[in-house]
Amino acid sequence: MHQSEHDVVIIGGGVAGLTLALEVAGARRVTLLRPDADDHGASQWAQGGIAAVLSPQDDIEAHVHDTLVAGDGLCDEAAVRFTVTQGPGAIDWLLAKGMAFTRDESANPSYPYHLTREGGHGARRVIHAADATGRALIDTLLAHAEGHPGITLRRDISASALLSDVAGHCRGIQGIDAQGAMRLLYASDVVLATGGASGLYRHTTSPLPACGEGMLMAAELGAELANLEFQQFHPTCLFDPDGPPFLISEAIRGEGGILRNLQGQRFMPDIDERGELAPRDIVARAIDAQMQRAGDEHVWLDISHLPAATIQRLFPTIHAHCQSRGLDITRQPIPVVPAAHYSCGGIVTDLSGASQVPHLYAIGEVACTGLHGANRMASNSLLECLVFARAAARALRKPRPTSDATITPRRIVQGGAAAPEYVDALMNEVRQLMSQKVGIVRHDAGIAEALRELTRLAIECRHLYRHHQPTLQLTSLHHAVRLAIMSVRTASERRESRGLHYNLDCPERLQSERHVSRASLAPELS
Ligand SMILES: Cc1cc2nc3c(=O)[nH]c(=O)nc-3n(C[C@H](O)[C@H](O)[C@H](O)COP(=O)(O)OP(=O)(O)OC[C@H]3O[C@@H](n4cnc5c(N)ncnc54)[C@H](O)[C@@H]3O)c2cc1C
Repeated sequence: MHQSEHDVVIIGGGVAGLTLALEVAGARRVTLLRPDADDHGASQWAQGGIAAVLSPQDDIEAHVHDTLVAGDGLCDEAAVRFTVTQGPGAIDWLLAKGMAFTRDESANPSYPYHLTREGGHGARRVIHAADATGRALIDTLLAHAEGHPGITLRRDISASALLSDVAGHCRGIQGIDAQGAMRLLYASDVVLATGGASGLYRHTTSPLPACGEGMLMAAELGAELANLEFQQFHPTCLFDPDGPPFLISEAIRGEGGILRNLQGQRFMPDIDERGELAPRDIVARAIDAQMQRAGDEHVWLDISHLPAATIQRLFPTIHAHCQSRGLDITRQPIPVVPAAHYSCGGIVTDLSGASQVPHLYAIGEVACTGLHGANRMASNSLLECLVFARAAARALRKPRPTSDATITPRRIVQGGAAAPEYVDALMNEVRQLMSQKVGIVRHDAGIAEALRELTRLAIECRHLYRHHQPTLQLTSLHHAVRLAIMSVRTASERRESRGLHYNLDCPERLQSERHVSRASLAPELS
């Protein structure tokens, strides 16, 4: 087996991983794992932008307030304040890196770049690069990382597990290379930047999101996970059964887009005084209810009242994609449905991204910093990626003594590979169960059934995993099914409805349930 020694290993090259790599590389040697296709990364698909207090008409307290309201009582106020306060500095850092944000073309703008307003925000504070902010961010950061002498980019290795020692410290990673061979990368510090867990669901807003593999790898080392029951569903994914998943950005509603059911009725103002700009959970549930009530497959989102030139200028990507699917959004309403979008839960970290496992950090969507609470406010996640990557870099620039305890050996399996079609079928079963029983609107019987079925699947997966070569596909399934069980357990234990967790059998929000839900990997799942 190939073995190598490293200083800082970062797993994942989305906005969080790339930002950290650039910020720490001057002081430490960085190895960045970013699989070639980067199939699982969400960053490249981000459209709307990054929330930060940039306009002179806005202020820190207002952004803190809006985030706390969206988080529905479960945000950690210190984490919110920290993130929001660091926001303007993070944007300046990006501008210094050459990030091409869309300029404000109006006469005498109060801030040079255009700011949009999105759901839950009481002010215009979302800076963006047209409607393809994520693509522009990744291109900018990757160009710097590729040329950096302190960063070794490994496009051929994916992580399958973390290495630990008998003292409980993280000591590196176990990976699988492009040829399917196992690799051990020993490291002084490891950072998980592997993204969220929306891939546990069937309908998603990006083509192949991660299934929370990073969260489970950390849990295997004893790290606590939190708030796993709070999965965000974006209200408006393009309804296009024959096409790839495609998000219709919240900014469309920010610029006046109107939601109507298939009977032509506008429904949001009757549900929330903020109308189409209510927080995402409220809008997603309202759309779900409209569809359930009439048995419809989608609702309409209409922006066609704006001049065609404005639509094309503000939303070139959405306009072009819809056009390529035979839909002219300057003249026609857009068919939309909710889809799994963002994981509010993840690995518990402090304000420098450190997990509870020594020498293991987690940043970006894989982490649970306390910023989002029970519901993430739009465009706060890219902000969190940037702020916590830079905070982790400050901590990592001063290396701490490493452990020299004996490294716990990993299990080596001699068997052949499991049939890929079979592994695929099991993963689809997990996704089907999560979508049908633990989706936007839940009830006790569905949650209990999901738990029973997932437990059956976990037993089957464990058998496969013990007797077959640990391919990436099989490892991902093994991690996904166990994370699904942890998520469903936290959903069943929360005896209320709050934020993104809505249970018809306990619809009230209870003061007694106002707590973060923490979960460790149960012995039977390890
Ligand atoms: C369609 C869409 C639109 C969005 N729009 C916005 C927006 O406008 N504003 C906003 O704030 N947020 C938005 N979000 C959310 C935001 O994009 C994500 O939360 C954020 O990009 C996550 O970044 P990340 O760096 O944590 O992870 P990702 O960008 O998901 O990157 C994860 C990285 O880890 C790698 N990886 C995963 N597993 C492994 C492994 N086992 N081994 C090695 N590498 C691995 C992946 O290949 C990838 O490089 C959007 C999300 C989606 C899906």
